[in-house]
Amino acid sequence: MININMNIRLKPGKDKPVRNGHPWIFSGAVAKVEGDVDPRDRLCVVYNAGGERLGVGYYNDKSTIRVRMLSVDTAVNTTKSTLPPLTFTDRDIHSRIRQSIDARKTNGVLTMNANGGTDSCRLVNSEGDFLPGLIIDKYGPGLCIQIGTAGMECWRGAILDALSDIVNPAFIYERSDTSSREREGLPLSEGLIAGTLPETLVIMENGVKYKANLREGQKTGFFFDQRENRALLRRYAAGRNVCDCFSYSGGFAINAALGGANSVIAVDSSEDAGNCLSENARLNDVSSVVRFLKSDAFAFLRQLRPNGDGDRADAPIDLLILDPPKFARHPGEVDKAARGYKEINLAALRALAPGGLLFTFSCSGAVDPHLFRQIVFGAAADARRNVQILHVPTAGPDHPVNIAHREGEYLKGLVLRVQKK
Ligand code: SAH
Repeated sequence: MININMNIRLKPGKDKPVRNGHPWIFSGAVAKVEGDVDPRDRLCVVYNAGGERLGVGYYNDKSTIRVRMLSVDTAVNTTKSTLPPLTFTDRDIHSRIRQSIDARKTNGVLTMNANGGTDSCRLVNSEGDFLPGLIIDKYGPGLCIQIGTAGMECWRGAILDALSDIVNPAFIYERSDTSSREREGLPLSEGLIAGTLPETLVIMENGVKYKANLREGQKTGFFFDQRENRALLRRYAAGRNVCDCFSYSGGFAINAALGGANSVIAVDSSEDAGNCLSENARLNDVSSVVRFLKSDAFAFLRQLRPNGDGDRADAPIDLLILDPPKFARHPGEVDKAARGYKEINLAALRALAPGGLLFTFSCSGAVDPHLFRQIVFGAAADARRNVQILHVPTAGPDHPVNIAHREGEYLKGLVLRVQKK
């Protein structure tokens, strides 16, 4: 048993979300901090205003999220005899990583290689896998890790030991270069931790090959959360003229081409993304169908209706994808983000040919699915379009969400069939 030297007492009424499993305690919920945080583990014990123990978390006074819970006492109005042991150790890190990986085996993501041609996915999804601040992505034979919080940083050694024991990867690369680390008071940390990173790393997803750039790519290098939605798009693409806005390395564009699209135009503001997309198109023998355009997607969509009367003036697009970056990084940016989502969805709905399909997404955790649907509804009304919802896509099962942690459900989408009124 280890000693935890810090106690956190919450204000009255602030214990309910914690008991229900929400892993975050904000500064405004904390009444009193007693004792000192041990810099080796940052662990603290959390109590409600009445003195009942709620569980164990890790503490950071630099973050507005003061505590992230690691284990919660399950019995409500607990008596001493029903409390779990007051501890969190390297063994807990090991067993949670193992459980996360086992879950990917049972839900099929890790066992699709033989039949589906998928050798890469997310192995640990932070709060969604009860390891707040830790992301681990599998890239073929190796791993890319991202440690986003000071609390999880304390367990770095245990994480690496667990990974070499459970996975024994060919390499471990680190991409802890998110702005969240700065908010946590941590330096950025990036580079090869173990093994050898191949000069060119090609991964497989649903039989499609992608060059993944762990050093310079966005996030950890690839967006695994869209795997199932790219496969869905493939089913709808035959014979269509497709426009993939915010295309990055071409996940949607290449699936559209492989699904039999007539033409695919991929739009992204990043030249590097475009270069990677062109290489990926070559890797999958679809260069003759996929064309990259370096452009701001807002400007591109707006010029698709130069008459300003809602009618398209150029070649018809009948399948359009909108997968923009996060417009709201925190709740304070929701209004601004809503305007951005409204603007691109309005332009996309106007640009689509009758009977066209729109795959539209938001990856802002602060914009909930209901609000996103309202925004798209508003755009459809303004565009004077009849819109049917065909699918309501989310991230795949390698991105599980703790049901008590609404913010974890960041990726939401709608697949729409669009007609003129
Ligand atoms: N759909 C992609 C992921 C998109 S990530 C996939 O399946 O992998 C978001 C992309 O939007 C990034 O590549 C980024 O370069 C691009 N981007 C950001 N702002 C943009 C803008 N205003 N116009 C066009 N592209 C933009």
